[in-house]
Amino acid sequence: MAEHDAAALVRELVGDRAGDWDLAGRIPGDVVATLARKGVLCAEVPAGRGGLGLSGVDNGELTATVGSLCGSLRSLMTSHGMAAWTLTRFGNAEQQAIHLRRLTSGALAGVAFSEPGAGSDLAAMATTIVRDGQHVVLTGRKVWVTGAAYADVLVVFGRFDEGAAIVLVPADAPGVTIEPVSDPVGCRAAGHADVHLDEVRVPADALLGGAGLPTTLLATATLGYGRLSVAWGCVGILRACLTATTEHATTREQFGVPLAEHQLVARHLAELHVSERSATHTCVHASRCWDDGTPETVEATLLAKHYAATTAARGAASALQVMGSAAALDGHPVARAYRDAKLMEIIEGSAEICQLALAQHAITEWS
Ligand SMILES: Cc1cc2nc3c(=O)[nH]c(=O)nc-3n(C[C@H](O)[C@H](O)[C@H](O)COP(=O)(O)OP(=O)(O)OC[C@H]3O[C@@H](n4cnc5c(N)ncnc54)[C@H](O)[C@@H]3O)c2cc1C
Repeated sequence: MAEHDAAALVRELVGDRAGDWDLAGRIPGDVVATLARKGVLCAEVPAGRGGLGLSGVDNGELTATVGSLCGSLRSLMTSHGMAAWTLTRFGNAEQQAIHLRRLTSGALAGVAFSEPGAGSDLAAMATTIVRDGQHVVLTGRKVWVTGAAYADVLVVFGRFDEGAAIVLVPADAPGVTIEPVSDPVGCRAAGHADVHLDEVRVPADALLGGAGLPTTLLATATLGYGRLSVAWGCVGILRACLTATTEHATTREQFGVPLAEHQLVARHLAELHVSERSATHTCVHASRCWDDGTPETVEATLLAKHYAATTAARGAASALQVMGSAAALDGHPVARAYRDAKLMEIIEGSAEICQLALAQHAITEWS
């Protein structure tokens, strides 16, 4: 399936129902299952592994389309795609053959890094992964795992020997308890949940490669995909805001003229347009670097994530200003954009964590 066919399927399945899903805190199971079964949620997986084999740029555009329609579904797409990328990056040939096929044929995955004491500082993870003969045993608590309430499998990070490791854990394994996060500020239907791991025993072949490497190295490799996906999702948020505000500002009149003819309103529209165009360019550039495997990928991805998330948060706030009371209702696309966009400045490397890393790049390049 090509990118435009996948986007058309998403448009057909989501329609104008995302607001209802947001209010209900749940995306209908058949929608998630259909998209997971067709490989749309991890569209970069190669065709030989059951995926759509999209390039990073095409997957980015698809992610923006999803993000413009439903932030919760885009969140599922980001975490599921990140799980598939982790398998591609660290799984051996057999693990990839088995599990990528599952992830492109209906099984849904979440990725579990964060813990009560380990948010930005992932090196503080306390979850332990211990080898015990032909098994590994996991003990700990993960928080805010996107999609965990829908997931069949969890990609769990934890301490292992002197470093870290990643294990594929069935969501229904004995000792796993999924506790949904109640009433999140945004992306309310994304199935965020805390995950309790109480001496969860899984076969040792669920351990991915790279076991024993430093936590930050394992996490950074995985987060790259998530950052780029979030960045493209933010482009989608900006596009949704432009669609709503341009329609509203050209049709609603105050003081005898359309809102768009008031220069202070027009400025909001211009800034939104600049944000969307610029965020798109940074994302396309980062995805091209990703597709070409250039050394610039890490910095380009950080830049895209940081720029797209901050401009989406600012742009969604401006959009709500332009809409006035017309969008001051839960479930309205711009109200959702406002809430969802703020969270994008927190996840996959908060604005501050991105700035610290970008400052290092600046010093290396300019000092
Ligand atoms: C909607 C949503 C979805 C999520 N999905 C997942 C998921 O799928 N899997 C998963 O494992 N986790 C997930 N998380 C958790 C997410 O990764 C963390 O929220 C994020 O890493 C930030 O950690 P924290 O919330 O504990 O904030 P903290 O790390 O406590 O940070 C709080 C504030 O302090 C700032 N700060 C921290 N350290 C520094 C520093 N050194 N310098 C400057 N400022 C600093 C931060 O930028 C932030 O503003 C999700 C969270 C949300 C809100």
